[in-house]
Amino acid sequence: METDNKQNIEDKNQSGVPPKQVNFIREIIDEDLKTGKHGSRVHTRFPPEPNGYLHIGHAKSICLNFGIARGYNGLCNLRFDDTNPTKEEMEYVQSIKEDVRWLGFNWEDREYYASDYFDQLFEYAIQLIKKGKAFVCDLTADEIREHRGTLTAPGKESPYHTRSIEENLDLFNKMRDGEFADGSRTLRAKIDMTSPNLNMRDPVMYRILHATHHRTGDKWCVYPMYDWAHGQSDSIERITHSICTLEFEDHRPLYDWFIDQLGIFHPQQIEFARLNLSYTVMSKRRLLQLVEEGYVNGWDDPRMPTICGLRRRGFTPESIRHFADRIGVAKRENMIDVALLEDSLREDLNKSAARVMAVLKPLKVIIDNYLDGKVEELDAVNNPEDSSKGSRIVPFSKIIYIEQDDFREDPPKKYFRLSPGAEVRLRYAYIIKCTDVVKDKNTGDIIEVHCTYDPETKSGSSQSQRKVKGTIHWVSAQHALDAEIRLYDRLFTVEDPSGENWKTFINPNSLEILDKCKVEPSLSKTKPQDRFQFERLGYFCVDYDSMVNKLVFNRTVTLRDTWAKIDRIGN
Ligand code: ATP
Ligand code: MG
Repeated sequence: METDNKQNIEDKNQSGVPPKQVNFIREIIDEDLKTGKHGSRVHTRFPPEPNGYLHIGHAKSICLNFGIARGYNGLCNLRFDDTNPTKEEMEYVQSIKEDVRWLGFNWEDREYYASDYFDQLFEYAIQLIKKGKAFVCDLTADEIREHRGTLTAPGKESPYHTRSIEENLDLFNKMRDGEFADGSRTLRAKIDMTSPNLNMRDPVMYRILHATHHRTGDKWCVYPMYDWAHGQSDSIERITHSICTLEFEDHRPLYDWFIDQLGIFHPQQIEFARLNLSYTVMSKRRLLQLVEEGYVNGWDDPRMPTICGLRRRGFTPESIRHFADRIGVAKRENMIDVALLEDSLREDLNKSAARVMAVLKPLKVIIDNYLDGKVEELDAVNNPEDSSKGSRIVPFSKIIYIEQDDFREDPPKKYFRLSPGAEVRLRYAYIIKCTDVVKDKNTGDIIEVHCTYDPETKSGSSQSQRKVKGTIHWVSAQHALDAEIRLYDRLFTVEDPSGENWKTFINPNSLEILDKCKVEPSLSKTKPQDRFQFERLGYFCVDYDSMVNKLVFNRTVTLRDTWAKIDRIGN
């Protein structure tokens, strides 16, 4: 059985998981394996609270926990920390499972819920009461807060601290049986009100809450606090390395205390710094505000740092895993440049995305010396990085579209694209020369450009050696398909939008919709999520809104980091 499991996991190792990296967590595990702690098992878990959609920070935690399990032929559980009945919903459970799967990880049959342990946790609580280590407290939430003291002042003991074990048992059972109102009583651990660690000052373990839980229904009206549930859940699942973010460092003494008092299996908690990304907010509360206040179009808006948003934007799971691996794990809070995430994506798409031609802002070009009605089928390479992807046919004819940006009537110096009298190569086709410009009489806007082509310069032919400085992309007007293309920019204008006035930094131009785009006809059979490189423009993917007669693409990422680049001319 054990060996079967290992074999399975090893097989999955072949499927594109980056090589394991040395980090302080792996060093701890290596040491534990050496000393034979936990019988040399490695068992981790990813423990989301089903109260929101997962974001790139969670992705880091997923890659870390599942990645470590894979790297050590161990196991990783998916556990929903669903101790809070009022905020949790099945919708979130479904989306979390979808996201973890999409990232390429598999929890097999190990899908657990903290709510599965409510009976066991209740039993554990009874054990602590019987040991004189927990008591029922009648203070209100406010009074508990007042008694707790501060970082510099010790707390005060609750007047109910000295209740007898019998009375505590009786009251706690009555709490469970629904005899008391919400908030009227709590069960608290009896530790030390003078501890320098506020978490140790008789923390609340249970509160009364007459609320329906998404899995246990109305069975319970007392619910465990996160701090009481989390460590014991890890212990019940015999998690060996309980990896969590830094804010839980101060909670570790409490988790250890609970486990020691109960005398149950003791996982080792290891803390790492949560991921902060520049130009991004990551708090669930703020992400919810962006959605509810209409700054974005839903949780899966391609500007959101949610996993479903990144997916819709065109990110690949490989690129996110690679990013997680590149940033490693740190012990101190830090800020990662979002450019690194985009770079991981470019690296992956450069290898995998098929090249096609699309024109975002079309300008009509008429090739006067090309035969009316003639159509040539030109050969275009699908991916210069991968010859196995072959080539496709691109039709060429007398009237084509090029980018408005690729023509200048008064070109600046070193402008190697089209301008009056200048020559340029049309990708996969011919060299053309601009002979005339037609303008709108009223507005002065350029309506069309006239050119001649040199029949001797067909790409790939023996005379095609003639060199010109610029090559531009194009589509044949009569063959092109209409498309809407959505260009995304960063959602925030500053690197660190984490302060209280974060909303003032929302980028008002983070979405630009171009709805007169023209794309080559090979794109007629695309389906949502298909990814392409539009030559010279960037990486794009088909949006869920795309239809046969109106294709919709999202710009996933530009070819280069345009934020880092001041001089855009001549790209
Ligand atoms: P909440 O405030 O609702 O608890 P949370 O972001 O901690 O929000 P959880 O669902 O509790 O959300 O997180 C699940 C796991 O993901 C936890 O182990 C948590 O430590 C980890 N995690 C959350 N945010 C990040 C982040 N930015 N970087 C790394 N790990 C994270
Ligand atoms: Mg949390």
